[in-house]
Amino acid sequence: MTVTVRFAPSPTGHIHIGNTRTALFNWLYAKKEGGRFILRFDDTDIERSRQEYADGIARDLEWLGIEPDLTVTQSQRFSLYDAAVEKLKAAGLLYPCYETTEELERRRKIRLSRRLPPVYGREALKLTDEERAALEAEGRKPHWRFLLPNYRHDPFMTERTEVQWDDVVRGPQTVDLASMSDPVLIRADGTYLYTLPSVVDDVDLGVTHIIRGDDHVTNTGAQIALFRALDAAPPAFGHHNLLTTASGEGLSKRRGALSVASLRENGIEPMAVASLAVLIGTSENVTAASSMQELAALFVPTATSRSAAKFDPAELTGLSRHIIQNTPFTKVSDRLSELGIAGDDTEAFWLAVRGNLDTVAEAAEWWRIVKDRPASDAELSQDDRDFVRSAARSLPLEPWDGETWREWTGAVKTETGRKGRGLFMPLRIALTGREQGPELAGLLPLLGREETLARLS
Ligand code: GLU
Repeated sequence: MTVTVRFAPSPTGHIHIGNTRTALFNWLYAKKEGGRFILRFDDTDIERSRQEYADGIARDLEWLGIEPDLTVTQSQRFSLYDAAVEKLKAAGLLYPCYETTEELERRRKIRLSRRLPPVYGREALKLTDEERAALEAEGRKPHWRFLLPNYRHDPFMTERTEVQWDDVVRGPQTVDLASMSDPVLIRADGTYLYTLPSVVDDVDLGVTHIIRGDDHVTNTGAQIALFRALDAAPPAFGHHNLLTTASGEGLSKRRGALSVASLRENGIEPMAVASLAVLIGTSENVTAASSMQELAALFVPTATSRSAAKFDPAELTGLSRHIIQNTPFTKVSDRLSELGIAGDDTEAFWLAVRGNLDTVAEAAEWWRIVKDRPASDAELSQDDRDFVRSAARSLPLEPWDGETWREWTGAVKTETGRKGRGLFMPLRIALTGREQGPELAGLLPLLGREETLARLS
């Protein structure tokens, strides 16, 4: 069977680096196995879901280099969920409950005080038809629970029922179905919670591997039972550790924590985000992979640690710089032309400046400095101005190449006796208007002799 994975965000906010980890674990897993990747929008919560967020997520994935083979939206698939509901009801596995949140909370406290596990006691299963009718006549609407197969004959006599799977990330896992409440599949207002639509879609779309955060481990026990109740073989599962902020807080989509969109806007390279999102919290070193292929080779799901991984956004800048420094012109030329960097010497320009950039967008400023005029951040003293003018007299004749700068400054040194910072800084300021920047050996041929002379005078 073709490996088929899915990334299933709910479009209720922008995806952040933690969601990116889930998306990439799936994407890289599929890539390694020659499989398919489905993007599924879990938008059954119509109130909170927004098309603009779905569009944003699709855009973020594209930016990261993830290309779904198929995109589906749960709100367009209700008939499938309704059919599954009928099947479960017919099998007596979905039952109506009428308790309010307060009633449930009160019962939970009582159970705790009696040292019983605080799970739902299936009281609604005991209701007679008349009692149900009376509750509905009061105006109560039922929510529906899935009857977990955690008993032999009597649902009120639950017993330890182990569900086991060999997790592709965490290894062998066991969940006891008697330790959890029957999950609510349908709310009192008739809307679906995530559990049932997810399982129905995973069956319908032929998902072979469900890879997601380890906050879903317990869910998986109930979902495996649900797959079986729907006569489907459960797929394989993998649960990766979650990312937290440096201070240990969880990342929240709704709070916009470290959204992929904001990282993109700040000029962070997509492969820096992808590399950190995948390699942090694993036994692999965090390095900047230059392509998805390279990252796939570094990706070993079982190397993921069990505990949450602290994510430091500052690390992204370093990885991003590293990627930029090693990006060949061919891979960046389209982005440069979008920045208005176009012409014959753009490749030489890129090679001259890339080692000095925090973001690709900063190249535009250096293009302006080279093509237009120097920036004017730094001033020269009278003494330095005289020095710069005299240096102009030693400027070699063209043609110029990467050696010209060394040749010229060697001659200036002999001529004037200046060396080190006293020699280089005034020249740098005269030529670029800045005290810092890319190697002048690379910039000088881009300026050309005439322009250089003009800037020195
Ligand atoms: N929409 C669910 C979530 O974001 C998907 C979980 C899953 O992958 O099954 O938590």
